[in-house]
Amino acid sequence: MSIAAKATEQLDFDAVVVGAGVAGLYQLIKLRELGLRVRTFEAASAVGGTWYWNRYPGARFDSESWTYGYSFSKELMEEWDWTEHFAPQPETERYLNFVADKFDLRRDIQFNTTVTAAHYRDDSNSWDLILHDGTHVTTRFLITAIGILSAPTMPNIPGTDAFEGQSCHTHNWPKGGVDYAGKRVAIIGTGATAVQTIQEVAKTVGHLTIFQRTPNWCAPLNNGKISKDEMDSIRARYPEILARCKETAGCYVHSVDPRKTLETPPDERNAFWEKLYASPGFGIWQGNFSDMLSDRAANAAASEFIANKIRQRVKDPVTAEKLIPKNHGFGTRRVPLETHYYEVYNQPNVELVDVNETPIERITRGGIQTTQQEYAFDIIIYATGFDAISGAFDRMDIQGVGGVRLKDAWANGPQTYLGVFVEGFPNLFMTMGPHAGLGNYTRTAEYSVEFVSGVVEYAKEKGLKRVETTADGVREWTDFVLGLGEDLLMNEVPSWMTGVNRNVEGKQVPRIMRYSGGHPAYRRHCDAIASAGYPLLAQA
Ligand code: NAP
Repeated sequence: MSIAAKATEQLDFDAVVVGAGVAGLYQLIKLRELGLRVRTFEAASAVGGTWYWNRYPGARFDSESWTYGYSFSKELMEEWDWTEHFAPQPETERYLNFVADKFDLRRDIQFNTTVTAAHYRDDSNSWDLILHDGTHVTTRFLITAIGILSAPTMPNIPGTDAFEGQSCHTHNWPKGGVDYAGKRVAIIGTGATAVQTIQEVAKTVGHLTIFQRTPNWCAPLNNGKISKDEMDSIRARYPEILARCKETAGCYVHSVDPRKTLETPPDERNAFWEKLYASPGFGIWQGNFSDMLSDRAANAAASEFIANKIRQRVKDPVTAEKLIPKNHGFGTRRVPLETHYYEVYNQPNVELVDVNETPIERITRGGIQTTQQEYAFDIIIYATGFDAISGAFDRMDIQGVGGVRLKDAWANGPQTYLGVFVEGFPNLFMTMGPHAGLGNYTRTAEYSVEFVSGVVEYAKEKGLKRVETTADGVREWTDFVLGLGEDLLMNEVPSWMTGVNRNVEGKQVPRIMRYSGGHPAYRRHCDAIASAGYPLLAQA
């Protein structure tokens, strides 16, 4: 059937959700509750999103497991036991499958299906989707749940196809695993993914060569097992834990210390940092002194504390200095949490190559050629990150009113209303979109899904066929978000959080990609708008 013919008939679905990860699964549940005809399209062969794809060695949470589960179902919280404070990927994948089973979600999910295009039709106020096999599907509402770190990028190094050994990006790690024990392995990248991979692979590898462009400030994860008794105690404290997450800027359990760094006496300051360094999770990043991420001198002092830890842990002083970031302060990029990461560099079979000193010229049939020498490898691991936040949108051909492409509309940076709506793209709602409040993923995704569900419910109750943001809505929100982010040290530094990916054309310069006013304030904005009947949305 042609699209034109289809538009005059009933639409295939009231709502389509793209993605069956953390946000998408909950979105499906919420839309079903509204009695809608919903279909979810998922590129993978099973649920999980990030936790389906990223099965590289050592992949695990660095938010506390018991803050990361869904909170919408008390029964689910009663039934699920976490076994480690920071769960490994297989456990999280099992959890999301458990959720899919419990709520019988798979019957509305079409797996192995990529939505390649989504075109808005003005005449029918609906979206035409084109799937990877050429199938067309129509829907009133289109809801993206495509994640913020789901578009992996290979390095812009020539010859990646030439390598005759085994190679893969960490995001696309084979389900059957990779046998790296005893082999000569290269890893390119030293972000959070690489750090987890390196510390695991180093345990059994023959020889490991790490190609580093920018070192990151890493801090100990301090993971531990959760016994049955401890899990029972955590379960009893769920209301308190969730309430705490609701109060903090990033929805983690760690809250900022109100003291100022340099106003705190040196001994007290040092003792506080020592305590944070020895504690589990993101406390050292999210629970540090209140000015640590806004005051340059405070940030420099915190950075020096961590630099000294690196110097103590890495035996070779030259290697230690290479591992200490020089172009950004502690916490201004996402802090990778580690377990014996720095000690890996004390192993005789591990080598650190600084690609600023000896740039990689190309990947060869047998390994990696730098300006200095050719290295021979059996395996090359690309831990080279993602075209984050807007990248997954750019990879779909999304066209709004008048055939305007979303990618073009966002060429100078995303422009949204609340991180949910885009001008000229009616009936498109983004969960966890650019300029929304981000943080502990499940905590923030749950809210995002509930907000979108509220909009859909409102449209259903009012019999609306078209819901879109006004130009004023987008202008006001974008200006507000850009203003909020201006003085933050984090927004000066190139990283995925500022939309920089040197492997992607047009993404070389930092820009403000996230709402930085803290999640509680973000929720207050969105809740007020919902209570007021969504002013700044045009409704028809
Ligand atoms: P990333 O932080 O963007 O790191 C990518 C790494 O690859 C960087 O070290 C980058 O160097 C390097 N790289 C890229 N292209 C290169 C090239 N052409 N030549 C040399 N080096 C190159 O990506 P990621 O490590 O995958 O982490 C992304 C985010 O995912 C994390 O920050 C975190 O939010 C999330 N994550 C979460 C968990 C968890 O919760 N447990 C675990 C892993 C990741 P430059 O820095 O110089 O660009």
